[in-house]
Amino acid sequence: MLNFEELLASSAKAHGHLCPGQAVGVRMAMLGCRLIGLEEPTEHHQIKKLLVYVEMDRCAADAIAHVTGVKLGRRSLKFTDYGIMAATFVNVETGSAFRVLSTEEARDLVPLYAPGVKGKASQQLEAYQRMPDSVLFRVQQVRVPVKDCDLPGPTRYKAICFRCGQVVRDRREVLVNGEVLCKPCAHGAYFQEAKEITWPEMNWTPASAGVSREPHRKRHLPDPVEIKEKREILHSNVEIPPH
Ligand SMILES: [Zn+2]
Ligand SMILES: [Zn+2]
Repeated sequence: MLNFEELLASSAKAHGHLCPGQAVGVRMAMLGCRLIGLEEPTEHHQIKKLLVYVEMDRCAADAIAHVTGVKLGRRSLKFTDYGIMAATFVNVETGSAFRVLSTEEARDLVPLYAPGVKGKASQQLEAYQRMPDSVLFRVQQVRVPVKDCDLPGPTRYKAICFRCGQVVRDRREVLVNGEVLCKPCAHGAYFQEAKEITWPEMNWTPASAGVSREPHRKRHLPDPVEIKEKREILHSNVEIPPH
């Protein structure tokens, strides 16, 4: 693993700015990886052994993903939306797992560790590099029961939603009164008033991009006037049986 300064610099570049969250996240990831014995997490021989559960979608989450190399698309990054500045590092091979939490005391002690530094963010950034792990973090040894449907690797399970026909992967289907449903059909979704649309230039492909002189953006954005409603799915109108 690169040293802290190198990781902080590359993490800030990938994240888009240098911020206190990068310092905390880089240190959290370095500590977590060390605790589970995977100190080269992005190297080929270790990349498949690591799972990281992040509990917030804030700056530090990007730093943790950057340092450890875990990715949503590889299923090695698990987002558990607790709103807590914490992450759990799991060695899949050994079962070893540690949850590292950022302490509130660390925030209070910022002026003590970086006296005279002007600006709140600058002072935090400096202090979070000077504090010992014992001040910055609490650490819990934990057990994480990882189901095989949550592991990286090829899709093992597929189901088809009885109501909308959508394929649901990795055991995320829900059984309601004997019917296999996708979560949006069973519980409602984060989106509302979904209307399926098409537009005249929907046959656009990347291969045809150079053919027309029309600007790319203009061509594949739907024109509101020409939108045809193909199907309406109004979840509010769907009767959801009790379960
Ligand atoms: Zn940031
Ligand atoms: Zn469905």
